[in-house]
Amino acid sequence: MPYTEDRATWFEGQGLWQHIPAADWHDWTWQLKHRLTTTAQLEQFMTLTAEEKAGCEFANHKLALAITPYFFNLIDHSDPNCPIRKQLIPRAGEMVLSDEEQLDSLGEDEHSPVPGLVHRYPDRVLFLVTDRCAAYCRYCTRSRLVSNAQDYNFHPEYEQALRYIESHTEVRDVLLSGGDPLLLSDKKLEHLLARLREIKHVEFIRIGSRIPVFLPQRITPELCEIFKKYGPIWMSIHVNHPKECTAELRDACARLSFAGVPLGNQSVLLAGVNDDAEVMKALVHRLLRMRVRPYYLYQMDLITGGAHFKVDVRKGLEIIRALRGHTTGYAVPQYVIDAPGGGGKVPINPDYVEKITDNEVIFRNYEGQRFHYPLKSTPRKLAGGAPLPATGIESIMVH
Ligand code: SF4
Repeated sequence: MPYTEDRATWFEGQGLWQHIPAADWHDWTWQLKHRLTTTAQLEQFMTLTAEEKAGCEFANHKLALAITPYFFNLIDHSDPNCPIRKQLIPRAGEMVLSDEEQLDSLGEDEHSPVPGLVHRYPDRVLFLVTDRCAAYCRYCTRSRLVSNAQDYNFHPEYEQALRYIESHTEVRDVLLSGGDPLLLSDKKLEHLLARLREIKHVEFIRIGSRIPVFLPQRITPELCEIFKKYGPIWMSIHVNHPKECTAELRDACARLSFAGVPLGNQSVLLAGVNDDAEVMKALVHRLLRMRVRPYYLYQMDLITGGAHFKVDVRKGLEIIRALRGHTTGYAVPQYVIDAPGGGGKVPINPDYVEKITDNEVIFRNYEGQRFHYPLKSTPRKLAGGAPLPATGIESIMVH
């Protein structure tokens, strides 16, 4: 059945936690303290499938189970195929390993000159500042280190990393990630941002965070003041399904925007979650309404135990084709594969160009109509038979 949603409605409220004082509910530390982290806690609210039970038992060896009460409210307890449920509740599929999968599928550890810092591209670094998240996505690329279920013993060395950035004048762009940087206290985060701002060659600071999605309560006025003080700080949030676009997330995005934080979204293409053009269209439309520009759509990385989430690349291309031209250009993310082993993000695009010769490009538009774009100019004569001057006018005629 095609996906439909009530576009005028935004989910909001305390759901299963009506009995909790509103002040607690809106307190991000309360949300963190009351996360659901065990099978028994989940079973107080829902009946787990056998697959989910097996996955939950295994989670402590792979990637911990944790869901904030706020985000748990979005799960449809009666539907084992609920797209929110699939992202957060472990399943037996995580125990199945495939030959092509790797613990560190992007080869980050090889490019780490200092614990917590990845320097793969010449002008930018990835600064992993924590291994903790508010909730854990079952398809996480960094599940080898995130939550420490695999005894990776991640210990970022902030000062060493900052000194490395200081001494590498070619680094103009620093991405704070993890884990989730917004789980750091305001004090720690401010310290890092202040130190980075002191480094003259660092022009661009960005944060990758799923906190606005799992824990919108964390986007406090105090945090927004920090972003204003050290801005511009760019932020990529991570939303995969339109159900995640609640009134609370919308309001958190507004607070960030008003604090001068440009927002983009990164989605991962996931089987049974968002591998559907109508779902993706609903998602990107909601994102624009929340002031968030859809930025990347990722083909899932080849992480261990992730095969049950994998989508055929042809399906991803079909989704992009269903968006491009059929909706606002701002709404269309760039579909990418992060090249296995560390080759970087490579754009994957539907093929609109049929042929390029010395004379023309032949291509099709979003409706499949064929067009020619001449590459050479063909000067005509002015009325009255006088030839055009030799220079300057040809290009005007072509356009
Ligand atoms: S929030 Fe990001 S780092 Fe944390 S589990 Fe999800 S994908 Fe991984």
